[in-house]
Amino acid sequence: DTIGANLDRTAARVGDHEALVECASGRRWTYPQLVADVDACALGLDAVGVRKGDRVGIWAPNCAEWVFVQYATAKLGAILVNINPAYRTHELAYVLKQAGISVLVSAPEFKTSDYRAMVAEVRGDCPDLREVVFLGSPEWERLLDTGRAGDRALLAERETQLSADDPINIQYTSGTTGFPKGATLTHHNLLNNGFFVGEGCGYTEADRVCIPVPYYHCFGMGMGNLGATSHGATMIIPAPGFDPALTLRAVQDERCTSLYGVPTMFIAELGLPNFAEYDLSSLRTGIMAGSPCPVEVMKRVVAEMGMTEVTICYGMTETSPVSTQTGADDDLERRTATVGRVHPHLEVKVVDPATGLTVPRGTPGEFCTRGYSVMLGYWEEPDVTAKSIDSARWMHTGDLAVMDEAGYLNIVGRIKDMVIRGGENVYPREIEEFLYTHPDIVDAQVIGVPDERYGEELMAWVRLREGAEPLTADALKEYCSGKLAHYKVPRYVKVVEEFPMTVTGKIRKVEMRQVSVEELG
Ligand code: ATP
Ligand code: MG
Repeated sequence: DTIGANLDRTAARVGDHEALVECASGRRWTYPQLVADVDACALGLDAVGVRKGDRVGIWAPNCAEWVFVQYATAKLGAILVNINPAYRTHELAYVLKQAGISVLVSAPEFKTSDYRAMVAEVRGDCPDLREVVFLGSPEWERLLDTGRAGDRALLAERETQLSADDPINIQYTSGTTGFPKGATLTHHNLLNNGFFVGEGCGYTEADRVCIPVPYYHCFGMGMGNLGATSHGATMIIPAPGFDPALTLRAVQDERCTSLYGVPTMFIAELGLPNFAEYDLSSLRTGIMAGSPCPVEVMKRVVAEMGMTEVTICYGMTETSPVSTQTGADDDLERRTATVGRVHPHLEVKVVDPATGLTVPRGTPGEFCTRGYSVMLGYWEEPDVTAKSIDSARWMHTGDLAVMDEAGYLNIVGRIKDMVIRGGENVYPREIEEFLYTHPDIVDAQVIGVPDERYGEELMAWVRLREGAEPLTADALKEYCSGKLAHYKVPRYVKVVEEFPMTVTGKIRKVEMRQVSVEELG
């Protein structure tokens, strides 16, 4: 199936069922209404000359129009290019040029950013960019009106020219470890993965999925939108950008059954001073993913948010994104402390990065996966692609994993984040999990910093509970003593209010390292 055909099929099946709710405006769509707006958007884009294979950029926070453009471009076979809402002119110009975007759909502004002014500034440098339409502007309304007056038979005709293996999306990675890379994905990649993620959450038409994660990222548009529409479930957009209070408000008012987030989002929601006042009783399931999911946080999500069937997913943009997921029937221990088992129709192996040979179960190695979910490649970066996808089509993820006898996987961390202290391999994740058990620590991140004697030393950045006494390195050492091997005890502690983060809510350890190295002198 193509993504467009799948949406139409769902609409035909579920009838007037609710498809989409945008909480900020109170607007609502049933499936047939959503299809009507998607088709109007597709015909409107067609009328401005968008053809199969053309790149259409979208630069906007989460909103209903994002959804229209996502499905409309898929119906035309155009390649949607997700542009990070946090970008500024330099990065915007880079993406517009790198992807050769000819039509850009943009919000006029977001938070403190004036998108209109930024687009005007870079436009002259981007010769491919023919058309810019700002959401909510008269041109946008005209585009939709043209589309509404258009002939839907044209879309049926376009559909016959599509193949499920065509590229239809360039999604940029989070930029956690460096500059974001544009993963090129097909209908087949995205739709199948969305479907299996929805299966993993047990979605039916009765589900109402709260999506506070960005659409710009695969977590929002793939696991969120495609996960929902492939099962006839309802998409709920709590707010344009992430806001913990508005998210819980949406769960309560819209009776959401499922809630998504990276760990930092759940931590923020659980930490709201009036957390107990929200009625979250409708929640059944949800997904925590994107970075290591602390066991303590998972347990609180189950116990305090009532997400008894919550799942953890592991994956990456390059693999559409999900490779493994926990199941509702796994015991609590496995559901909080592993990333689950491999998804249907995928192959995985855990290899020694040095030799490429599969390691025994229980031994850490690089997680590799192969199958329908692997991207076509990084957009116009064959050399970078060849470093990640080998000649046998195995995607080398750069993540270290351990597989147990029953096939459950544990992500020990990124190869890049592993610390080698005095010849010992230290996985920051293990220490972070331990630090979470400290009564004053609400969030902890551990990095390696250069050290003359040991090569690298450990440093913990911690966020403390409000009102807690400042935490010194000595006090932490004492807390760890007898519980952690001496070489795993952080030598330095830095108390912070927040961590450097990507738009997707991931902590940028690269930046933490830079700051720490400067401070340590
Ligand atoms: P970049 O590739 O630009 O540095 P990124 O890798 O964070 O950024 P994404 O594709 O958004 O970009 O994230 C995928 C990565 O997130 C995985 O490779 C893995 O390191 C991490 N990750 C995702 N899910 C989990 C999880 N459940 N547990 C641990 N780590 C996870
Ligand atoms: Mg990555």
